Amino acid sequence: KSKDTGKNKYTLFDVTMEEELNRNSLITEVLRHAIANSEIYVVYQPQYNIRKEKLSGFEALMRINNPKLGELNPDEFIPIAEESGMITELGEWVLRESCRFNKNLIDHGFDTLTVSVNISSVQLSKANFIEIIENILEETDLPARNLELEVTESTLVSSLTNASVQLSSLQELGIMISLDDFGTGYSSLNYLTNMPINTLKIDKSFINNICSNDKDARIASGIINLAHSMKLEVIAEGVEKSEQLEVLRKHKCDMIQGYIYSKPLLPHAFFDILIPDPFKEDCNALTAASKM
Ligand code: C2E
Ligand code: MG
Ligand code: MG
Ligand code: MG
Repeated sequence: KSKDTGKNKYTLFDVTMEEELNRNSLITEVLRHAIANSEIYVVYQPQYNIRKEKLSGFEALMRINNPKLGELNPDEFIPIAEESGMITELGEWVLRESCRFNKNLIDHGFDTLTVSVNISSVQLSKANFIEIIENILEETDLPARNLELEVTESTLVSSLTNASVQLSSLQELGIMISLDDFGTGYSSLNYLTNMPINTLKIDKSFINNICSNDKDARIASGIINLAHSMKLEVIAEGVEKSEQLEVLRKHKCDMIQGYIYSKPLLPHAFFDILIPDPFKEDCNALTAASKM
């Protein structure tokens, strides 16, 4: 009897693994054809400078929408894209699209915004990565200073010497480098002194309980002071509540990104927040007038 149970358990485990493998290969197939099938697009999340009280830039976030699987979660498909090598092609598509979008904003008079694009270690370790970036900047006519690349600590660890050489070349072109998800990786303070970095992004996990947990608040404050002492700018990600914003202001954080200000937006919606719809303003004026 116990033999039977064991067998059943084994079969169950097998089925789950098989399902996971199936889903992985299904997603790999979707990724392989995402560009050709126009199932890939980019959303843009505003980054707000809380010292200057103005929009400083926005992060480009990859999205995949497949008719059968629906909207895929980046936390699920990005690792699969990295394992299958598809991230190189998809990431290049996102880079080109994001640079084109920011150039479009410049042409509409918004010339101070930085577009931040996430870069995988798979992309960074390619010998022709610098060349690809140079080509995209030339092709889209975007000034290098309007582009920022976000890398994570694990990206830096996985290809230590190579990464720092690649990032230095990018900085020499005028591109900004941001260290994403700071505090969650194998962070060693060594990286901060040896890596070419302009901005530190404090991970959302430290921001979540910044109001209720004194230790988290002190960590955030410590990261901000550390960054400033190294002449780096600091951005807090995943800010959702005004109480969090107040704590970050108190600790002199430079920038914030989060739902409190805006969710990631489709290009037309992003334009809407830059150029308020005159009709909407008319409505507001009418509402205000009707209340008087
Ligand atoms: P990330 O680079 O750390 O991006 C920030 C994530 O936090 C985004 O999730 C964003 O939508 C989310 N977020 C921002 N503000 C808030 C908030 O206030 N509350 C909550 N709950 N979430 C917030 P998303 O878009 O799902 O992306 C997840 C991760 O996938 C990214 O984390 C990044 O590591 C990766 N990723 C996304 N697009 C790309 C890409 O084009 N290339 C590469 N290599 N990775 C990407
Ligand atoms: Mg990022
Ligand atoms: Mg992050
Ligand atoms: Mg992340």
